[in-house]
Amino acid sequence: MPINVLPEEVAAKIAAGEVIERPASVVKELVENSVDAGAADIKIEIRQGGRRLIRVIDDGEGIPADEVQLAFERYATSKLQTVDDLSHIITLGFRGEALPSAAAVSQVTVITKAKGEEIGTLLRLEGGRVVRHEGRGAPQGTVVTVENLFYNTPARLKFLRSQATEGRHISELVTCYAMAYPALRFSLLREGRTVFQSKGSDKLYDVLMDVYGLEIAQQMLETQADSSTKSAITVHGYVGDPALHRSDSRHVTILVNGRWVRDRLLSYAIKEAYHTLLPKGRHPIVVLKVELSPDQVDINVHPAKREIRFRNSGEVFAVVQRAVRQTLVQKGSLPRSSSRFGWEGAFETRRGHLVGAGRGVIPSPGELGLGVQRPEEGPSMVGLPRKGKLPMLRVLGQLGCAYIIAEGPTGMYLIDQHAAHERVLYERFEAERDKAGVSSQSLLEPLVLEPGPRQAAVMEERLENLRELGFEIEPFGGDTYLVRAVPAILQGTDLTQTILDIMDETGSKDTAPSWEEEFIISLACHGAIRSGQVLPPQQMQELVRHLEETSLPRTCPHGRPTMLHVSAEQLEREFGRR
Ligand code: ADP
Ligand code: MG
Repeated sequence: MPINVLPEEVAAKIAAGEVIERPASVVKELVENSVDAGAADIKIEIRQGGRRLIRVIDDGEGIPADEVQLAFERYATSKLQTVDDLSHIITLGFRGEALPSAAAVSQVTVITKAKGEEIGTLLRLEGGRVVRHEGRGAPQGTVVTVENLFYNTPARLKFLRSQATEGRHISELVTCYAMAYPALRFSLLREGRTVFQSKGSDKLYDVLMDVYGLEIAQQMLETQADSSTKSAITVHGYVGDPALHRSDSRHVTILVNGRWVRDRLLSYAIKEAYHTLLPKGRHPIVVLKVELSPDQVDINVHPAKREIRFRNSGEVFAVVQRAVRQTLVQKGSLPRSSSRFGWEGAFETRRGHLVGAGRGVIPSPGELGLGVQRPEEGPSMVGLPRKGKLPMLRVLGQLGCAYIIAEGPTGMYLIDQHAAHERVLYERFEAERDKAGVSSQSLLEPLVLEPGPRQAAVMEERLENLRELGFEIEPFGGDTYLVRAVPAILQGTDLTQTILDIMDETGSKDTAPSWEEEFIISLACHGAIRSGQVLPPQQMQELVRHLEETSLPRTCPHGRPTMLHVSAEQLEREFGRR
């Protein structure tokens, strides 16, 4: 083929692809424009996960009548003039690409009226071409409606996920911007129903409550730090108590100069700060705002502006890591009995000696250094083979309301009652699912659930799966649901809280095949005996019996050990008998 310059329409569609990946990208660009326009109130409406319609209504400064059409030209922007301006951008937009990109792949209608103008403007474009342009009465501000996204790019359309998933991306985006701008009022309507609203009180904590609910907000610890150097980095936000961990990192929100970004460096700084405080593979809930001089960050890295570069990344890393760590150490209620996996009563050891039980640091089995078995590394183990059944164990007693002390032919076993019960429930549930189906328990009175926006999105998406897993749940108008039956293993738990927690814990998984797995693990966790619970001898013996019958008795479904083993030999050595 000879070289051709692409027709403008093709070029525009290709370019649009970089900025507009999915409905949430449109929402992002429109919301950013509203923020840049100085809006106090930003309303977002979506239909069918944003595919059918996205509308963003703001009360910002509006676009002057003679500039409306220009705003849809590529590289047309009111926010930047020279290359030098790039180093001190304080607006969210600057590339002048969003409106033309969205317009190239959808049908866009703008109604806007600028401050001081008599009459507003209506402009409609289809596939980037203007089809209507006229005067229109309107209040000050801008309404942008994007309909039938990707209607003319079928290839993109095919890559879209379910409406619920696309809708969840949008909810996530709106909640993140609400956290970035607590002084602005955000509302999100899905199919005409309000699913999220922030008050615009200018307090981040209030937005946290709107996003995560009171109970979680109460377990968030405020963090604040400044760098003493001249680059003047400030960090402010909330870090979740380590007890609040989640299965993926989506609940770590990083906002740099008001921009929601994905940044590996800062994510890593946060992860480091939580080091050893969270179970392996789990992630915290964090909202962190980092502010620094605009000339210290390069935001022009990616068309969607989600990635940034710091001029002095080492310093930013250090400030963030220190701030988070310090907050956790000073305010975090480290191991405590109400924590979900309750490590209360863990052992502290020094140089291989047991120094006593009590509220201690969370030890890894390796740190105990007592010939204790780490499940992943069987062979080094004294006495106990990695695979195969447990020997018959005799229960001797309970330690710290969290551990069962038992004796077997090869020494002493300390069993984590919660982890052990999780393993038992998990395998029982899997077995039921494989054959007859999950045994479910009808409730005497149906339970009315009022999930938050993120939870509701999961609920909506997973109603069918939930049915297969022993739940009977039906929509009950608005964003409420009626629960008529639950899996039998949830008997005796606080059902409302449990179900909502499970929605949170499993919600962020995009991949369908692992959702059920994640869900069952979560279910087992909630159904299991807590640590901190006093157990009568008979119940402990029963639990140990059941654990002996499981196929993988040595780890809980999250992969943590259910037991530590101290061999008879090891005991003799420790007591100097050998
Ligand atoms: P950018 O935001 O990078 O400048 P856009 O394509 O998103 O580029 O928008 C082009 C221009 O249109 C903006 O620079 C701004 O002047 C104007 N504009 C877009 N949306 C709004 C809005 N909601 N309120 C006021 N002006 C707007
Ligand atoms: Mg913009």
